[in-house]
Amino acid sequence: RPGPRTLRPLTQPARLQNVLYEIRGPVAARAAQLESEGHRILKLNIGNPAPFGFEAPDTILQDMIAALPYAQGYSESRGILSARRSIVSRYEEVPGFPHLDVDRVYLGNGVSELIMMVLQALLDPGDEVLIPAPDYPLWTAATSLAGGTPVHYLCDETDDWNPSVEDIRAKVTTRTKAIVIINPNNPTGAVYSREVLAEIAEVARENSLLVLADEIYDRILYDDATHTSVASLAPDLLCLTFNGLSKTYRVAGYRAGWVAITGPTAHASGFLQGIELLASTRLCPNVPAQHAIQVAVSGHQSIEELTRPGGRLAEQRDVAWSMLEAMDGVSCVRPRGALYVFPRLDPEVHEIHDDERLCYDLLEQEKILVVHGTGFNWPRPDHLRIVTLPWGADLRAALDRMGNFLASYRQ
Ligand code: PLP
Repeated sequence: RPGPRTLRPLTQPARLQNVLYEIRGPVAARAAQLESEGHRILKLNIGNPAPFGFEAPDTILQDMIAALPYAQGYSESRGILSARRSIVSRYEEVPGFPHLDVDRVYLGNGVSELIMMVLQALLDPGDEVLIPAPDYPLWTAATSLAGGTPVHYLCDETDDWNPSVEDIRAKVTTRTKAIVIINPNNPTGAVYSREVLAEIAEVARENSLLVLADEIYDRILYDDATHTSVASLAPDLLCLTFNGLSKTYRVAGYRAGWVAITGPTAHASGFLQGIELLASTRLCPNVPAQHAIQVAVSGHQSIEELTRPGGRLAEQRDVAWSMLEAMDGVSCVRPRGALYVFPRLDPEVHEIHDDERLCYDLLEQEKILVVHGTGFNWPRPDHLRIVTLPWGADLRAALDRMGNFLASYRQ
């Protein structure tokens, strides 16, 4: 049968126009192309522990394997009860964490799916969400995709990347519905003190904001850093605390995350019904991975061996940070948590006008893939994010090459 002579063009819908995810963006696509041509690329763009030789605790693997025969059907939309119960127990051990009802825990295919669901359930067109700059860019993308308006509050590099509470206050409007707090922070590695979190909670209280706390790195802490869950300082506010197995438990590929909803709910029944509705439309999260949650959160926390002094993650953080600090025209706040460094390239020395171009050039010349700071909604082209997951020797070699590259690089 003859078809139509021309097919109607399928253009990108307008609502995708402000949706960006540069961690896997065009520079990463170019890296994949170079790989297919036979080049070896050192990928320092994604916080994906497994390819760098970080093994998940064996108990997690064994539990998932043992559960496979019983994980063939769909589960309840919120997720299996045993996993949600274990999450409730996990938070019972967090000092001051408010009461968590097992039916207020939702499991997801990673935190990513839950971020998308929650913002879809929350936002009407024009509603504003306060999001840190720099941020983990899914928060900005998901806000835009849900029809909301991301409003970025600044984190202050000269103050260990702490959020500027003054800037947060200045950016609250009558349309602001929620504030996102990423702690420990990706990309900066900052870990916020109780005092800073209490100040932010106070702004949320004064303005009746929903608190969205992304705490996926809460156990990846270095030196003397301690983690405070913001929900524990705001039992009187509706807080959604996000976490999962991708980082602490090194099984990013299993796609297992959760959101824990605490605080008053009487004022938020529409929003909570929306979450319930969206959870049911996705049927349920991947069931075998749900079976990995209980053993992960209640078993031995092997991440601690990697993050304490002498541990692999702590050493790699030190290698990356000290080498960057030693480079001419580069400075870096020492990360106290998470898996990244976010160095600053002094504009007086490097004069970089386009940080994405810099990443392309570094890739072409040195075959090293990193992400430009503006990809994290940082307003100026003067930062890069580098993953600290490779072995120290590999990181050292990569940063040596990057240092030489930067020394002669001009735009
Ligand atoms: N939130 C932050 C701050 C992250 O860094 C990441 C992944 O890098 C995610 C959420 C997404 O995690 P998941 O693998 O659970 O979807």
